[in-house]
Formats: sequence, structure tokens, C-alpha cells
Amino acid sequence: MLNYCIRLSGIKDGNHEYSFVVNNQFFDAFEQSEITNAKFEVIIILKKEGKKMNLSFNIDGIITNFNCDLCASALEIPISTSLSIILQETENEMEDTDEILYIHPNQCEIDVSHLIFEVISLAIPSKREHNSESGVQCDKEMMVLLEQYAEKEEKIDPRWEVLNKLKDLKN
Ligand SMILES: [Zn+2]
Repeated sequence: MLNYCIRLSGIKDGNHEYSFVVNNQFFDAFEQSEITNAKFEVIIILKKEGKKMNLSFNIDGIITNFNCDLCASALEIPISTSLSIILQETENEMEDTDEILYIHPNQCEIDVSHLIFEVISLAIPSKREHNSESGVQCDKEMMVLLEQYAEKEEKIDPRWEVLNKLKDLKN
């Protein structure tokens, strides 16, 4: 696993910028990942004002391992997303929320790999289809083939008819 840590202790007030590259190796580390082929650039700004800290994420990249839901051929999904989160110091065990990440007062760094993974995963569109907007159209030949295959599947296989008759005899 690569290092996706941001230093928290001993930093001055103001903005601190970090940049990370997220690639296939990163997604390999997450077993539940739907993404296996992708490349992202992640810019994180840590803003510190006394005890107040805030992380803002800017994530841009492209996923290349999905197939189109309509024509089943390869699809490129560009993703551009951002997130802002408050870092709150606490001595108590607290459950993180969408807006607040709890850290220990003496915590010297924070691993942001899970956050990056979550932000990217949430940005995957539910519809994975080619469209005219992106200038990439569906593969028409593939769609015809898929349709023919679906029609064949619908026709009743004669072997099933025999099985059904046997079942009837048993009853
Ligand atoms: Zn398509």
C-alpha cells in the first residue's frame, strides 16, 4: 500500500496542499472495489486555523474497467468530484459522520486512503452507458448480437419440455 498520509502535528496555520496519484495498485488494496482500472489525481488542502482543521478533496480521473449496460462494450467513465470535511479533535470514541472526522488530540497524521476510496466509489454513476454527449456511441453491432442472444434464450428448450412431462408423471 502506498502512503496516503497527511501530517497533522507541528503544522502552521494556513493552507497546506498535498497531491496524490491513485491508480490500479490503490484499488487492488480494497477488496470490495468495483474499480480495477483507473487513474485519478487527488489534490487535498488541509486548512488549519488554530484548533480548527478542515480537509478539502478535489478528485479528477477516469475509470476504464466498466462495460456499457446497453452494448456491453468498453466504457470510459470520467469522474470529477470534491468533498470537504471537518477534522474535530476529541478524547472520546466518536462515530465519524459525513461532515466530521474525529481525530485524537495527539494524532500526528491521518491516513486518507479510505476517504479517497469512498469519495470515488460514491461518484460512480448508476447508469453506465455510452451517450451522445460524450461523443461515444454504443456499439450497434454488439447490440444486434445481444438482442439475438436474448431472443434465443426466450425460446423454450425442448429438453425442458421432456423434464416437465416426467415431473407430471411422478405427480
Ligand atoms: Zn454502449
